[in-house]
Amino acid sequence: MDNVTPLGGDVYEIDTRMAGYSGITAGYLILGDRPCLVETGTSTSAPVVRDALSSLGVGPDDLATVVVTHIHLDHAGGVGDIANYYPSAEIVVHEKGARHLADPSRLMASAKMVWGDKLDVLFGTLAPTDAARIRALGDTGTIDLGNGRTLASHYSPGHAKHHVGLLDSLTGDLYVGDAAGVYLPETGDLRPATPPPDFDLDVALGSIALFTALKPQRLLFSHYGPVKDVPPTLERSAEELRIWVDLTRRARDEGLDLDHAVAMVRDRTRERYAALRADEATAEQFELLSGAPSNVAGIMHWLDRTPR
Ligand SMILES: [Zn+2]
Repeated sequence: MDNVTPLGGDVYEIDTRMAGYSGITAGYLILGDRPCLVETGTSTSAPVVRDALSSLGVGPDDLATVVVTHIHLDHAGGVGDIANYYPSAEIVVHEKGARHLADPSRLMASAKMVWGDKLDVLFGTLAPTDAARIRALGDTGTIDLGNGRTLASHYSPGHAKHHVGLLDSLTGDLYVGDAAGVYLPETGDLRPATPPPDFDLDVALGSIALFTALKPQRLLFSHYGPVKDVPPTLERSAEELRIWVDLTRRARDEGLDLDHAVAMVRDRTRERYAALRADEATAEQFELLSGAPSNVAGIMHWLDRTPR
């Protein structure tokens, strides 16, 4: 299928086609004795993911595990639907996200407040998952991929308080979710993802340091795809966070309101990103995933509750 890309090591990247866009949301299938899906994409992505899995020979009873890096709807919005398609699969998530997958009502209500009318088009509705099928992860945890291969989870908050990174024991692949920011393969740009309400600079930098210490061979971004140049990329992730926080702090110190702060930060970071000088569609992709308004709002929210 044209939305499935083999990455080696029995790993397949699946374009989950959020809201019909290509190349912005990735899920990954680790094939083997105990097939594992990393990230479901949105609820509207679920049929796309199911078709991709069946093209790889994974039928309804074959999927052993579904794991999400965190419960934002572009990563986990399809969990309920995927759980229904694959009744044998265990659903794995950090303990701070588990209850929202079992009862998504509060998560959906707050998403509705953020996204309004766009919610249905972008994400659809997260369906509940039987709590008995959910396994909650603590600071660390292990997923059995079969044949001695494992996926080790590492708690990595900062972007979200329910975020984990996942390290493959065979390949050294690290699934970074959104903790290292958003990567655009078309241009090689990397931009931070600092949305409200959880963003915390020090915690986020700690998670990036943890990722570096794990010495992964490759980073697999949920937005979007594999990156082999690991240490410089993680350094860039940290640098991006510092720059956005510095600029937002300056705007706040000057007394700018959110709209003006967004305009200022957008303006002063524009030169950093080739995507924003590329065609309109690429720029739009970038804005959709780590939009300046959401990033600046998240940083402002953190500054408001953090003494200097
Ligand atoms: Zn995301």
